[in-house]
Amino acid sequence: MVAQKVAVIGAGVSGLISIKACLDEGLEPTCFESSGDIGGLWRFKEAPEPGRANIYQSVVINSSKEMMSLSDFPPPAELPNYLHHSEVLLYLRLYAQAFHLLQHVHFETSVVSVRQTADFAATGRWEVETEGSAGRRDAGVFDAVMVCTGHYTRPHLPLGDFPGIESFGGRYFHSWDYRSAEGLQGKRVLVVGVGNSGGDIAVDASRVAEKVYLSTRSGAWVVSRVARGGLPADLIGTSRLAAMVRRLLPSWVGAAVEKKLDDAFDHRLYGLKPKHGFFDQIPLVNDELPARILSGRVQVKPNVKEFCGSGVAFVDGSAIDEVDVVVFATGYDYSFPFLPPALRTKCGFRLRLYRHVFPPALTRPTLAVVGFIHALGAINPLAEMQARWATRVFTGLTTLPSEESMQKEIEKDMVAMQRYSCSERNPVHVDYIPYLDSLADRVGVRPNIPWLLLTDPKLALQVLLGPCTPYQYRLTGPGRWAGARQAILTQWDRVYRPFGNRLVPKPETGSSCMVAMVSGAALLCCFCYVFRAQ
Ligand code: FAD
Repeated sequence: MVAQKVAVIGAGVSGLISIKACLDEGLEPTCFESSGDIGGLWRFKEAPEPGRANIYQSVVINSSKEMMSLSDFPPPAELPNYLHHSEVLLYLRLYAQAFHLLQHVHFETSVVSVRQTADFAATGRWEVETEGSAGRRDAGVFDAVMVCTGHYTRPHLPLGDFPGIESFGGRYFHSWDYRSAEGLQGKRVLVVGVGNSGGDIAVDASRVAEKVYLSTRSGAWVVSRVARGGLPADLIGTSRLAAMVRRLLPSWVGAAVEKKLDDAFDHRLYGLKPKHGFFDQIPLVNDELPARILSGRVQVKPNVKEFCGSGVAFVDGSAIDEVDVVVFATGYDYSFPFLPPALRTKCGFRLRLYRHVFPPALTRPTLAVVGFIHALGAINPLAEMQARWATRVFTGLTTLPSEESMQKEIEKDMVAMQRYSCSERNPVHVDYIPYLDSLADRVGVRPNIPWLLLTDPKLALQVLLGPCTPYQYRLTGPGRWAGARQAILTQWDRVYRPFGNRLVPKPETGSSCMVAMVSGAALLCCFCYVFRAQ
């Protein structure tokens, strides 16, 4: 039996692209969103809302707009290259509007349980129970389910690792609760953890705090959003050619990147040098941290040994006598409380999902998880490809391998993932372009570069050497978009557009001076000639 009605849980980015993927495949999506609006994480909330992802006021996206865009919806050219969270939400609103997605969303409706129907073996159907804002419960039967509930909802706060925290005299909270530096004026702040949130919060707080200490167990590579010529770093670094070179010469590329980063600032001198290689963990994307360290506003410290009263002792024997506020930027746990326990089975630290999407043990592949993924690159294109694949599987146009093969591949993935340092906190890490291409192969939308070289060399060179933007996956196959070629050929125009606020005249070059002189002399001669002739 082929799926028709699909329940999409959550209307963040993953939910919106899943609704769109359903519509593209002729399915009927019904999206349940527990809040009153779309956008999920990107909808800033003044106060943290339990069970939802939260961001702080200063969040600017780490991936540039062309890299994080959805594959058939290039971002407005006027938007800056790195969007503030409010602009990400604006982009999502435009996307939802353009594809008429809102009419499929039931707001203020939480999914409380997802259960297989009694005839699941024959139909693959699910009973989805929801609760509305007035506590009203409803249930409906769906042919398939897409779980798009995000994974930054449950703060990981390992207080047991911090002896003495129970008697700490100051205030402490998780980065999930952090909104802005309001209230930190003149305070001595300790940020624990040097992931992207920890780095951002340390910089943010350091503008008003008396002093900020940034404690890290393992250090981090710090990369800038700004690459050579002032262009977005991910547009320069995420090309197919770069991915190929990295695959052929992994240690050489890793060493070259690390050298470049150390040339920008010496990670050892700054106390940030990690043991792991650049590609073994998501780097810290932060343009301001080095300058805040250089100016003494942020001081890097090693791992906390213990809290004693209002003071903190570190593993290197150093101590701070007085700390007012501690922010634990210690990451997140994930949970899918509404799913049947059998589907929540973890494999080591991660959910047991084939290609991070399908539970392998289901007799019918009618449940998919979308957006539960992490990479050195934007999440949106990965989640979008997952949604396109999942809907093709629901319609029966693409099939999954046998359960045994899927289980074997999950085991293989687990072994491969061991190379990522801290894989327990990154249980869903993948290599960006290889993962996208592997799903694109399954959907039938991977660009055929040799063919492009023969038929459209201009485009082929952009696809191969330029940034691997999501439009590449709309050039061919199911879901082909006629605007994809143009979107690729104009991507740099959209990158340059926001810079045009003040026109700076180009300095006259030697040749243009010469042209001006020659033209002036010619004019003078003409004038003299005419004058003499009279
Ligand atoms: P969410 O945005 O969390 O949306 C999930 C939605 O599901 C929510 O609207 C929620 O209300 C709803 N929901 C949850 N449970 C239920 C239920 N039971 N019933 C009904 N509805 C439910 N990624 C990048 O690519 N680039 C970045 O620069 C970047 N920066 C980030 C910065 C921070 C501080 C954080 C925390 C994450 C960042 N991310 C970034 C990752 C980001 O989480 C993903 O890119 C993406 O936005 C996640 O979208 P989502 O739709 O999967 O989840």
